[in-house]
Amino acid sequence: MPLRIKQDRIAPMTKRRNTSTVTAGTVKIGSKCPIVIQSMVKLATTDIAGCVKQINALAEAGAKLVRIAIPARPDSIAFAKIVQKVKVPLIADIHFSAERAIEAIEAGAAKIRLNPGNIKSKDDINRIIDCAKAHKIAIRIGINEASIRNLLHDTPYKQRTGLMIKEIAGYIRFFEKRGFNNIVLSVKSSDAARTIESNCAIAEKFDYPIHLGLTHAGLAEDAIVPASIALGTLLWQGIGDTIRISIAGAPVQEVEIAKKILAPLGLYKSNEPQLIVCPTCGRVQWDLIKFAGQVKKFLKGIKKPIRVAVMGCVVNGPGEAADADIAVCAAADKGFIYKKGKKISTVKQAKLFNALRKEIEDL
Ligand code: SF4
Repeated sequence: MPLRIKQDRIAPMTKRRNTSTVTAGTVKIGSKCPIVIQSMVKLATTDIAGCVKQINALAEAGAKLVRIAIPARPDSIAFAKIVQKVKVPLIADIHFSAERAIEAIEAGAAKIRLNPGNIKSKDDINRIIDCAKAHKIAIRIGINEASIRNLLHDTPYKQRTGLMIKEIAGYIRFFEKRGFNNIVLSVKSSDAARTIESNCAIAEKFDYPIHLGLTHAGLAEDAIVPASIALGTLLWQGIGDTIRISIAGAPVQEVEIAKKILAPLGLYKSNEPQLIVCPTCGRVQWDLIKFAGQVKKFLKGIKKPIRVAVMGCVVNGPGEAADADIAVCAAADKGFIYKKGKKISTVKQAKLFNALRKEIEDL
């Protein structure tokens, strides 16, 4: 008998670690709030129309915050216009320049992402903090492994996490001394194991919300698995209050993958159907893969949190699909439809898809 785990699809399966609540415009980040999915604009910020379109597409896909790069003065000017044209709160991504940070805050950024290590003067960091305080916005203090000050190419693996934690702890103290607590923390690496280790370490030490991500993760086919392992492991331990999946590819895909990582842990309430398909084996007597593709296409237009299963044979299929709301199994010439584990009809193979579609529509 296959082991069945009864899943409550609504109640979170993981207990979040307690973190403070940080405000970024209309969005709250922290353990008392749902995990915030974010992504980043991948166009030149001076392409105002393109950026607005991409931001709206991300918001439509489910991003609650969108980050945008502000590398130079023309980008600050463009950012000020973009902020006015979109509803989703924006995070200004700042490197090296206090001026760009201040311009972005004054233009309406809800949050800025800052690596204090690349702002040379402490006075400049203080100016950014004072401006953020005056405008009541949040700051993400972001540390990337590659940008750690004392890190050398041959620094041993074991010392790297320690250096990252030491550096971010120094920045946190600096911000706290200035009386600024609207902070989100991030410690990122392109190494999944170190991302897990370093985020566990900061979760132990601080109670600020944590932004999770794997930096420079790669093209989609290379990025999804390590990001899922690193973020999934941390989320399972209750660590992480906002996430971004870094993929060298379309930004909307980042949001879709984020949802796919959160949903199985009960951390994202989806209104979309879930399709389960058996992996197939020598018992299959019909074109299951083609059929499953048809079903997937059809389900794209459905907004119901249902579970649909397409199983290859009548030997194991019905048992394996018992948790599904609707399931089909088939032999060479006929198919069987199951509703909540009970067989409700037998139809000819050629009519199986239409019969399944009607059952799903009637649910
Ligand atoms: S459901 Fe049937 S066809 Fe599919 S993998 Fe299991 S035994 Fe094989």
